[in-house]
Amino acid sequence: MPALTLFSFAKINLVLRVLRKRPDRYHDIETIMQTVDLTDTLTFSPVRSGISVTCTAPDVPVDERNLAYKAAQLLRERYGCRKGVRIHIDKRIPVAGGLAGGSGNAAMTLHALNRLWKLDLNRETLLGLSAELGSDVPFCLFGGMAAGEGRGERLTRLNSKSKEGFLLVNPACAVSSAWAYRNANLELTNVMSCINLDVSVWQGSDFQRKISHLYNDLESAVCAAYPMVEQARLSLKKCGAAGVLMSGSGPTVFGVFPDRADAEAARQRLIGHIEPAWRMFVVSPVSHEEVARRSGWMER
Ligand code: ATP
Repeated sequence: MPALTLFSFAKINLVLRVLRKRPDRYHDIETIMQTVDLTDTLTFSPVRSGISVTCTAPDVPVDERNLAYKAAQLLRERYGCRKGVRIHIDKRIPVAGGLAGGSGNAAMTLHALNRLWKLDLNRETLLGLSAELGSDVPFCLFGGMAAGEGRGERLTRLNSKSKEGFLLVNPACAVSSAWAYRNANLELTNVMSCINLDVSVWQGSDFQRKISHLYNDLESAVCAAYPMVEQARLSLKKCGAAGVLMSGSGPTVFGVFPDRADAEAARQRLIGHIEPAWRMFVVSPVSHEEVARRSGWMER
């Protein structure tokens, strides 16, 4: 079988509420996640035996700590598969950026090897395996827009016709998700009970209503410890974003605009006004169907 090349998408969190710490090391959350068209490219080459990973980003581990490696290893162990694979990751999604880049790589590895190794696993089986690899991996497998509960792995698909444009600003630092969750102010969070996971907002077309529901419980702790995150937020506000929010555990922040052209115009205005090392990306929402089409995901 020839090599297989797939796109692995980033996600943003439009809502992230941290409800409580659980007896395992995780937190219960409520979240609205949206796939966006910022992608890594993954190439899977069949080899006789073994798993190897290469990556264009020097800060990503390429041994058994790599999430794509872990996904391949899980399939081999669970299904007694002896075939091998060489995985090359062309990384564009900022690493440890709150955009689930690594989780997306793991999800696409499950898709790719299911085909390459002819495992013929159905959708439920792949979703079960993905939850073992990380809380965000099931969503990355699914894509589009979804509400997440539990650790974020219990998903409800949402139908969105949103046309918004997003400008992502990544202030060149890495934030550990574990640190962000440990430092979230859960007492304050619980007082904010008025912020409910109102899915009708996100399935509707009332732009201002969506803006008023953007929410992230991890944002204040990360902004306090990483002043550049607050600086990135202010830059996005100044350049005319209708709403600004940190994605996931940060440090990437996004500005919301009525459409992609507005987001692109804002990007142009910010050039030269942010730190040279920071990265900017103009992105659009990607539907579940589009993720399925571009990742070779078959409904069955
Ligand atoms: P999330 O939003 O799911 O918390 P994130 O976007 O904050 O994820 P990732 O880019 O997924 O963070 O990376 C988190 C950590 O995982 C990094 O420290 C990185 O070294 C490690 N990692 C392992 N495999 C990968 C991979 N394939 N791509 C990116 N990071 C990886």
